[in-house]
Amino acid sequence: MPTIKKQALVIGAGTGGYPCAIRLGQLGVDAMLVEKAEPGGVCLNWGCIPSKALISATKLAHKAQHAEHMGLSFGAPTTDMPKMQVWKAGIVSKLTGGVKQLVKGSGTQYVTATAEILGPGRVKLSYPDGKPDDIVECEHLVIATGSVPIEIPGFSVDQDKVRDSTGALELDFVPEHMVCIGGGIIGLELGQTFQRLGTKLTVLEGLDRILSVCDKDLAQVVARQIKQDGGEIVTNAMAKGFSERDGKLWVRAEVGGESKEFPADVVLVAVGRRPVAKGFGLDKLGVELDERGFIKVDARQQTNVAKVYAVGDVCGQPMLAHKASHEGEVVAEVIAGKNTVNDARTIPNVVFTEPEIASAGLGEAEAKQAGHTIEIGKFPFSISGRAMAIDETNGFVKVIIDKSDNRVLGIHVVGPEASDLISEAALAIEMGAFAEDIALTVHPHPTLGEAVMEAAKHALGEAIHVGNRRR
Ligand code: FAD
Repeated sequence: MPTIKKQALVIGAGTGGYPCAIRLGQLGVDAMLVEKAEPGGVCLNWGCIPSKALISATKLAHKAQHAEHMGLSFGAPTTDMPKMQVWKAGIVSKLTGGVKQLVKGSGTQYVTATAEILGPGRVKLSYPDGKPDDIVECEHLVIATGSVPIEIPGFSVDQDKVRDSTGALELDFVPEHMVCIGGGIIGLELGQTFQRLGTKLTVLEGLDRILSVCDKDLAQVVARQIKQDGGEIVTNAMAKGFSERDGKLWVRAEVGGESKEFPADVVLVAVGRRPVAKGFGLDKLGVELDERGFIKVDARQQTNVAKVYAVGDVCGQPMLAHKASHEGEVVAEVIAGKNTVNDARTIPNVVFTEPEIASAGLGEAEAKQAGHTIEIGKFPFSISGRAMAIDETNGFVKVIIDKSDNRVLGIHVVGPEASDLISEAALAIEMGAFAEDIALTVHPHPTLGEAVMEAAKHALGEAIHVGNRRR
């Protein structure tokens, strides 16, 4: 087999692998990026981007239907799902095409092939077009193989009646009923997408509340909205299987010791994702995995094996695109000989539900567990002029500070544009800001960002537009 020599090989062109490859090229490392499927990985093809496209389109439909009190009546929207899918696919192909160009432009070689590790520094590439295999000999190896959805017994995913997130994103019709198994981020984002188009949504959640990764008070706002839009949330519910009757699927679940059935036309299984750390020869290198199968890495994203690194979903939570990208860039600098470590103080988390939730830093319970005596400042969007003007007053901003020195520990937003508001919070935490830093920063009016400033002032007992507690 022909041998190709490279300084670095990156396996997987997701949001972990491709930024790593680009940065390697920028830094003058002779590198190759190998991807067996599409450039951009889950995020660009089957995750962040296609889901956000459908979410924004359906939000528009929902908003138009609820504008009568503003003096605007549009009537019921007609939904052309196949057309929406074509629009969504156009966005995806623009972005994925751009990834290839960026990688090549950086000087890194992009190859479509399946990678299999043969031993230290040796990787076999098998091409989809039948071209003979190649061997790559590399000094540095970056594993960026990502994650795949977890399946559960009783629900074999056929991407027709039973779908995972990938299948749900391809739906070209609006189901009358959807049962979503799992009340986590992905399930609720997709469930609410179809709910906004008229689907009756039932969420079956095994725990005692949805969105267990978020503070309870934030998750409650989304739970209320799902119910207000006609959906049902069943907690402590373990889905067991389904049968077909009268043209419907009947999903069976144990709910508090009782067996219940829920009707569906489509079942969405969204119970989490597992790392892709097996099946491509990683074991031949002796790379250590943790008890959940994630690759163990240190602060420089190095595994226990010298010059083998891992980035993104394959090396653990949070499974987020921006976390993967940051790790990829860190690794490129490490390989290029820079003294870089991954010392991000916070990885902001965004949930694109209705309303959106976004968090940076510690939650209430986490802050207390870490030994902080905390003060909380809150500002509701119901009294924000900007929120009223855009007719999206549901939610609030919560700022958690350490009472001893007013250091910002966490900022949490549930409400309009939370996804964009959280960047200010991430910067504040990254820079070790105090509540005064946010409170004394003049925020433009009228904006949603003022709510972050007011919440910081509220934590200090100095809010102007909401009553203060005595400190
Ligand atoms: P992946 O994107 O999984 O990429 C890994 C790549 O490696 C794949 O392309 C795969 O084909 C390739 N590969 C695997 N094995 C081999 C091999 N042997 N040879 C060659 N190639 C191989 N995150 C956010 O931050 N914001 C969001 O809004 C968001 N929304 C999401 C919505 C959905 C529905 C889903 C499913 C996920 C979402 N995520 C979101 C999560 C985000 O998509 C992931 O965190 C991100 O894709 C992880 O990137 P990665 O590079 O680690 O892995």
